Amino acid sequence: METPICIACGTQFTPSDAPPSACPICDDPRQYVPPDGQRWTTFTELAGSHANEIRDDGGLVGIGTSPSFAIGQRALLVPYGDANLLWDCVSLLDESTAAAVEARGGLAGIAISHPHYYSSMVEWAQRFDCPIHLHAADAEWVMRPDPAVRHWDGELLDLGHGITLIRGGGHFPGGAMLHQADGAGRLLTGDIIQVIPDRTHVGFMWSYPNLVPLPDADVQRIAAAVEPFAFASIHGAWWGRVIPGDAKDVVRRSAARYTRALRGAP
Ligand SMILES: [Zn+2]
Ligand SMILES: [Zn+2]
Repeated sequence: METPICIACGTQFTPSDAPPSACPICDDPRQYVPPDGQRWTTFTELAGSHANEIRDDGGLVGIGTSPSFAIGQRALLVPYGDANLLWDCVSLLDESTAAAVEARGGLAGIAISHPHYYSSMVEWAQRFDCPIHLHAADAEWVMRPDPAVRHWDGELLDLGHGITLIRGGGHFPGGAMLHQADGAGRLLTGDIIQVIPDRTHVGFMWSYPNLVPLPDADVQRIAAAVEPFAFASIHGAWWGRVIPGDAKDVVRRSAARYTRALRGAP
């Protein structure tokens, strides 16, 4: 049996003889089914057509698939004791990627911001024999249940070694960010806080591809959730989406701009 992977969102499903009739993550209005319809690949096929690029991205090691696949995010390796924590995830895990991660100390855990990046998380967890930390509020979006998945509840999860998961909500109710208390501090945001092209502001949306905004209260809540933490940089979901300094002020200014924009005066 093969594990189907949705070509539009990169989510891997439970092994089966045939792909599911639909992908619930793409049917959800935060994502989309492409105009040419729902299409599937498999974990094996993907490894034959794509490879992972592993390189520095703003001071952390990034892992992204080439050519770009599905939503096109790259994952990040966050130093975690003697090993690493994988922040967000990608659909492709081949032997050369696993060997490169092993060479950097392997994985002691996986944490993912929200369901769009659940991708092939179970393959990664099985390969490195480590847990996957997901917020319980998004449990309905796990398409391949596995004992490695550990759902956490509430607003914060202290993972040790200076790493804390912060629930921001917004884009998804369980939308999580990762704070690393290292030097001046780093905030890894997936697309809960979106790094936008000009790097002087960040964005907040309910659906990015479909351009559906969030209520102002949700945006202010996200900004308030990260306010107690010290951080200089923000690391978004794609290659190069990094704000290298002054990022806390960028969040404050952007949340204030959001309120002004809703009042007609951005
Ligand atoms: Zn999908
Ligand atoms: Zn998303």
